[in-house]
Amino acid sequence: MSVAGMPGFAAGQHCMLKSVRFLHMRYTTQFLLSAMAPAQFPEPDAPEIAFLGRSNVGKSSLLNTLVGEKTAKVSHTPGRTRAINFFALYDSSRRRKLVFADLPGYGYAKISKSISAGWPAFIEPYLAIRSTLKLCVCLVDSNVAAQESDRQLIDWLRAAGSEFAVVATKIDRLSGNERTRNLLALKQGLGLDELLPVSAKTGYGVKELWARIEAAGG
Ligand code: GDP
Repeated sequence: MSVAGMPGFAAGQHCMLKSVRFLHMRYTTQFLLSAMAPAQFPEPDAPEIAFLGRSNVGKSSLLNTLVGEKTAKVSHTPGRTRAINFFALYDSSRRRKLVFADLPGYGYAKISKSISAGWPAFIEPYLAIRSTLKLCVCLVDSNVAAQESDRQLIDWLRAAGSEFAVVATKIDRLSGNERTRNLLALKQGLGLDELLPVSAKTGYGVKELWARIEAAGG
C-alpha cells in the first residue's frame, strides 16, 4: 500500500505540530510521513536519528518522553506500526535541526540469515542507504536477557560501520543490585562497551540520551 493510499493521509502531509514538553522545549516536532518503501522516504536534509527495537521494548514510551505524546501515538497507529515514521524537529527559529525515524518493532522469532527476516524488507535498505542517518538508537529491555535478534541487529550495524548507541529501557523496574547485574549481562551478551540505562517513566538517562543524539546530529 502506498503512503498516499492511507486513509486521510498523503505523503509529505504535515499533520502534527507539537512542542516538546520535557527537556527540550526549544524543539517543535512535526510528523512528516510514514514510509513503506525506499521511494517514499522523505528528502534527506537534516541529520537523522533512527530508533530501533523489538516490539514492546518501550520505544513509543521513550519517544513520548523525548519528543511528545502525539509523536508516539502516530507511531502506534495501526497501519503505521509496520512503516518507518519520520518526524522533523525544529528549533525556535523554525529551522529543521533533526529528523527522527521510528522504525517498526521487530518480532521475537529466532532469525538466522538476515536481520530483515520477520521485519519489513525496506529496513535494511533504509539503514544501508540513508545518507543523512547519523545515529541508530537501539533499544533493549533492561528486564530481559540479551536476545539473538538484538545481537544480530547490533552485529549488522557494527559490520556496516554504522554509528549506534544501545539504550536499556524500563530501568526503573530494577533495584540497584538487579540493575548492575542486568546491565553487565546485557553488555556481555551483546558485546558492548557502553549501554545507556533509561526510563521513560522517571526520565532517568533521558538527558544523557539527548546529549548523545545532539552530539551525533550536530
Ligand atoms: P513499544 O511497543 O516498543 O512502542 O513499547 P511501549 O512504549 O508501548 O511500551 C510497552 C510496555 O512497556 C507498556 O506497557 C509501557 O507502559 C511499558 N513501559 C515502557 N517504558 C517503560 C518504562 O520506562 N518504565 C516502565 N516501568 N514501563 C515502561
